[in-house]
Amino acid sequence: MDRMSDAQINEFDIVIAGAGMVGASLACLLAESSLRIALIDRNPLVQNKDNESAEIHSDKFDPRVSAISQASQQLFQQLGVWEDMKAARVCNYGAMEVWDAEGTGSIEFSAAEINQPELGNIVENSIIIAALHKRIAQLENIFPITPFSIESFEHIERQDGSIVKLNAGDGQAIRAPLVIAADGANSKLRQLANFECREWDYEQHALVTTVRTQLPHNNTALQRFMETGPLAFLPLRAASEDDAQQFCSIVWSMLPDQAERAMSLSEDEFNAELAAALESKLGAIEWSDKRFVFPLRQRHALNYVKESIVLVGDAAHTIHPLAGQGVNLGLLDAKALAEELQRGIEAGRSVADPTVLLRYQRRRKGNNLSMMWLMEGFKRLFAQQNLSIRWLRNIGMNAADKMTPIKNQMIRKAMGLDS
Ligand SMILES: Cc1cc2nc3c(=O)[nH]c(=O)nc-3n(C[C@H](O)[C@H](O)[C@H](O)COP(=O)(O)OP(=O)(O)OC[C@H]3O[C@@H](n4cnc5c(N)ncnc54)[C@H](O)[C@@H]3O)c2cc1C
Repeated sequence: MDRMSDAQINEFDIVIAGAGMVGASLACLLAESSLRIALIDRNPLVQNKDNESAEIHSDKFDPRVSAISQASQQLFQQLGVWEDMKAARVCNYGAMEVWDAEGTGSIEFSAAEINQPELGNIVENSIIIAALHKRIAQLENIFPITPFSIESFEHIERQDGSIVKLNAGDGQAIRAPLVIAADGANSKLRQLANFECREWDYEQHALVTTVRTQLPHNNTALQRFMETGPLAFLPLRAASEDDAQQFCSIVWSMLPDQAERAMSLSEDEFNAELAAALESKLGAIEWSDKRFVFPLRQRHALNYVKESIVLVGDAAHTIHPLAGQGVNLGLLDAKALAEELQRGIEAGRSVADPTVLLRYQRRRKGNNLSMMWLMEGFKRLFAQQNLSIRWLRNIGMNAADKMTPIKNQMIRKAMGLDS
């Protein structure tokens, strides 16, 4: 490395790789420290131009939405970004109905049962990201460096300790003693650093789109479990008074060949099949937007920490979207890591001190794993064609619906109140 290019290399206390919902939230959390933090992403951060709110307020919804738990909402409030999201567009839901397509089993969760105003909020991912990026632009110790697409990395041993150098494809480079990988499910950093993962294909694809229904959703989320995968209707709030409650975001998990077929249907054909799949609970599907398909994989890194590189969010774990927990788990990772780093700094430790990083791993791994096994269990249970299992499933659902303490515990867990 010659002197000239060495001087061009930026050096920080921490590099966060990935400015998605998890990486951007972590950057905001760490802004409370005195650390110099680089936030890199292969895409530019959202520029909060004046016309953006106009775009958000039209009835064009982002096809990617997240069911934001109360715990995540509290985190966004702490970061000062929740009000911006609310002003743009969020839709609270006070109830969730879940039922079995192959029988009579059903369960209904309601916020009122646990004396809460709502179970959660459906928020478009683009709205979450825009609010976080707007906040980042106001933070003096967060340095966004984009576009920066990670191509390789190396560990450099120096007299003052070990440092990680990240290289981008275009010749840019950046260094820090600690690199946090928040670069999503296909994390390049996780692969480059050879983190071992346990992963399997769900053999399901998720089809997502936005629909307009004949009947109002009444701020209730619906989920119908079918052998081939669950179908979720997540309520959205439209700007116009007339049909404010008639838009939903759908996540329809199905076998890959079914997804291919569903993508090839005309809008009318698709709408008719979708209404039938929901047993016409919201009447006819009057309109549907462009459809997108995501292959579903479950993946969990065996360790979240390896020589000054730490995984958070989808880089550490991807989970079936059926319970809408992916980003909520990632935000809990971000919170735990920020707390442990802060605790370490106060105790005079370096940011890459393994004791600090392993404390974060201990706090999050078991929790993430138990949620992943729960989702896997649900998926397998509902894929069963065996009649006695179906019968037990229906009995179990109906019984759970009547068992208030168990049900309340399930609700609190999903809301992130008991993590
Ligand atoms: C169909 C579907 C529905 C879902 N619904 C829900 C839900 O209701 N609730 C919920 O909690 N979760 C849900 N999830 C999961 C949720 O979307 C993810 O958990 C969440 O997006 C993960 O956020 P992240 O910030 O970890 O990763 P990402 O959102 O993937 O962000 C990664 C960032 O890293 C950047 N990046 C990637 N590679 C590089 C590179 N090489 N160099 C530089 N930058 C890079 C990307 O540009 C991006 O900005 C759903 C997922 C799917 C597929």
